[in-house]
Amino acid sequence: MDASVARRLLDGLLDSQGWSQAAFAAEQRRRLGAIVGFAHAEIPFYRSRLAPLFRGDGSIAWDAWADLPILTRQDLARHAGAMRPSALPPGHGDTHDFSTSGTTGEPVTVRVSRFANVVSQCCLFRGQMWNHLDWSGDVLTWFGDSGPEAEPGVHRRGPWGPPWRPGSTGSLFSIARATPAAEVIDAARRLRVSYLMGRPRTLQELAAETLRRGETLPLRGLLTFGAETTGDAREACRAAFGAEMIGGYASKEAGLLAYDCATCGKRHINADTVLVEVVDARGRPVPPGEVGRIVVTPLFNFAQPLIRYDQGDLGVVGTAEAAHTALPVLERLAGRTTDLFRLRDGRVLAPSIPESIGESAGAALWQVAQVDEATVEIRYIPAAGRRFDEAVFSQAIAQYLDPGLRVRFAMTPALGKGQDKFRRYSFEA
Ligand SMILES: [Zn+2]
Repeated sequence: MDASVARRLLDGLLDSQGWSQAAFAAEQRRRLGAIVGFAHAEIPFYRSRLAPLFRGDGSIAWDAWADLPILTRQDLARHAGAMRPSALPPGHGDTHDFSTSGTTGEPVTVRVSRFANVVSQCCLFRGQMWNHLDWSGDVLTWFGDSGPEAEPGVHRRGPWGPPWRPGSTGSLFSIARATPAAEVIDAARRLRVSYLMGRPRTLQELAAETLRRGETLPLRGLLTFGAETTGDAREACRAAFGAEMIGGYASKEAGLLAYDCATCGKRHINADTVLVEVVDARGRPVPPGEVGRIVVTPLFNFAQPLIRYDQGDLGVVGTAEAAHTALPVLERLAGRTTDLFRLRDGRVLAPSIPESIGESAGAALWQVAQVDEATVEIRYIPAAGRRFDEAVFSQAIAQYLDPGLRVRFAMTPALGKGQDKFRRYSFEA
């Protein structure tokens, strides 16, 4: 797909974010109507699922939207082939299959069109512009568990800014995930990169290593994806790198869903390219400010439309609209639905322990895992020069989770490299 398409798309996104709420909502609904109309007409899997949405004359009964069934990861694992049309409308380009093994459950494969991929890439460019990132600087990402990126050494992966922009001269470098943190720091220093990229917990590990060596490494930003950035991770990065974490929320299935905004300090949903709903167990929207399941409908991936797909994450949408943009606010992520703790008496909890507890207890990194129905394990790395105080966590578990839980402790030299190990809360019972 040529650069002029991406360029027009990015210009379009920079325009639509500034529309009035009414104009924005109308356009979002038009785009949603286009993809559900296509799915209903062209894809057998969706014919009956979406039937309640279509009146006899073919018009859409939007009132029925919240009653449409939620598409689960299991649906995707079992029926992915049936969710794909026999042909794409013109202009969507060729397609690419992404597999995601996930940390729990069955692996799924999603087919993504070139066009949808470019849309997601342009959302990322827009997010980078919100944060005034400098595309002439270099980026090092600590990434790659398999394939060529997992080979030892530093790999130059090409430019990371929009190629049509004259200032996009910086390169993205990657270094395999198996590389020890100390070597990643050395490589970043040698390459004189402006930015480090990784999951929040991997960046936090790099920050902890830098501080442990009594050093600092001045950077312009820490670029991060996926899991929620935590207060202690942000603090560690400020101390080690003198820079802020700039985060996005993305998935292989749905592309870039939201990105941090330097103007208001919130995270905006890319609602011009994806419908993000936060719903209860019945699929009905929960009020802003309350935790619910994140359900997404990407608006441009006609190669495999995902209509009301349960992303497996819990989140909260903001109560207030930002004055400077029509894009809604994703107040916070609240963990994975698989990370809910389940107590013996049948209660299901979304654990939420204040970030300040880690600092008080003297932990550089910490994770709470429920290991059986009555026990949680606190895994931690002590902060440099501090003695870890178990009592602080024992009290926090009693106060914020349940006083009946047994608490045990495990000091770990480094929290594991798997994505699941980087969660704040892990349900393993
Ligand atoms: Zn903003």
